[in-house]
Amino acid sequence: MAVPLLDVNAQNHPLEPELTAAFTRVLRSGRFILGEEVEAFEGECAALIGVGHAVSMSSGTDALLAALMAAGIGPGDEVLCPAFTFFATAGCIARTGATPVFCDVCPDTFNMDVTSAAARLTARTRAIVPVHLFGQAAGMDAIGTFAAANKLQVIEDVAQSIGATYRGRRCGALGEMGCFSFFPSKNLGGFGDGGLVTTDDAELAEKLRRIRNHGMHPRYYHASVGANFRMDALQCALLRVKLRHLDAYTAGRVANANDYIERISTLPGVMQAGDGPGGLSERVVVPRADAQMGHVWNQFTLRIPGAGRRDVLKSHLTTRGIGCEIYYPVALHQQECFRHLPAHAIQDCPVSEALTGEVLSIPVYPELAAGQRDEVVAAIRDWLIA
Ligand SMILES: *Cc1c(COP(=O)(O)O)cnc(C)c1O
Repeated sequence: MAVPLLDVNAQNHPLEPELTAAFTRVLRSGRFILGEEVEAFEGECAALIGVGHAVSMSSGTDALLAALMAAGIGPGDEVLCPAFTFFATAGCIARTGATPVFCDVCPDTFNMDVTSAAARLTARTRAIVPVHLFGQAAGMDAIGTFAAANKLQVIEDVAQSIGATYRGRRCGALGEMGCFSFFPSKNLGGFGDGGLVTTDDAELAEKLRRIRNHGMHPRYYHASVGANFRMDALQCALLRVKLRHLDAYTAGRVANANDYIERISTLPGVMQAGDGPGGLSERVVVPRADAQMGHVWNQFTLRIPGAGRRDVLKSHLTTRGIGCEIYYPVALHQQECFRHLPAHAIQDCPVSEALTGEVLSIPVYPELAAGQRDEVVAAIRDWLIA
C-alpha cells in the first residue's frame, strides 16, 4: 500500500455534504467579497486563538506582508528571521524594502536561536519574525524578553502551527501580530489560498483591514497605499466547516506523532532530539514535543546525520512507496536572491546549513491509518538494520 506524504481527499471528502451546503449558501447570497461569511470566519478564528481581532488575507504570504506593512516596516529597517524556514517569511520582509537579517536555529527544535538573533541586532533592527516551524512554538519567552529589551515588534509566523500552544497560550497571541496560512497542506487546509492576521491591538486591526483593501478609507480615499489582500467569502465559508474539526485533526496528528516516537526511537541507532549529544552510532534523530509546548505536528521531521545518508533514506522510502520530502533543502541566507544583501544579514548559520542536509519529513497527516504507519516504521527499520 502506498503511503502519500499528504492526502487532502481523505480529509475533505467526508465533509462533502457540509461543504456543498456552504458553497450553495454563498452562491445564493451573491455576496462574494468581504461581508458576513468573512466576518463570521474571522470571529471564529479570533475566538480560537484567544485574541481580540482576526483579519483574513488572501494567503499566508500576504498575511505576513500586510502585518509587516501595518508594523510600518520599510526601507532602511532590518528584520530578524530564521534562516531555516519557508521562503515567504523572508521574502515578505524583502518586499517591504527592509532587509531580512538571518538568524540560526536550534538543532533540537528547528526554531529560532535567540542568542543568534541577539548577535545580529543592530541600530536598524525594528522587528523579529519567529516562525513556529513544523507545528511547534518557538522559544517565545526568550524572544519576547529580547524583543522588549530592544523595542522590537514581534510578528509570529504561525503558518504551520494553527492551534499550537506555548505554555498554555495559543501561538498567534504571543506577539503584536500572528500570521496564519490556509494553504491546503497546512493544519487547517483550505481549497486554494487563504491567510489571516491576529492581533489584540484594535488600531493594528483597523490598519490591517485598510491595507488588505488598497489602503482605502473612506471609499475611494487613500491616505496610504495598500493592495488587494482579501480572502474570498467562499473560501471563508468552506473553512468554517473545517474549523469545527480542527481539534480532531490536531488530535490525529498528535496520536500519529506519538506512535512514531514510541516505535521509531526504540529502533537500533535512533535517538530522540534533546537526548544528549548522541554518538556516532545514532543514524536517525526523532523529533520531540517539548513538555511546555502543544505541538500540532504539521510535519514529522527526522534528522539523518552523516554525509549523504539522508538522501539514501529518502530514496529507500520512495522505493517503498512512502511519501517523504525535504523541508528545506537550502537555508535562506544562501538563496541566490539574497546574495546582494549586506554581509551582516547573511552571516553563517551553521545549524541551519547542517539541517538542510539532514532533514526528512514523513507522513503524519491526521487520516494516516495504523497500517500505513506500520509500513513507514517497517521501512525505516529495514533501512537501519540493513
Ligand atoms: C506556508 C507558509 C507560509 C506562506 O503561506 P501561503 O499561504 O502559502 O502563502 C509562510 N510561512 C511559512 C513558515 C509557511 O510554512
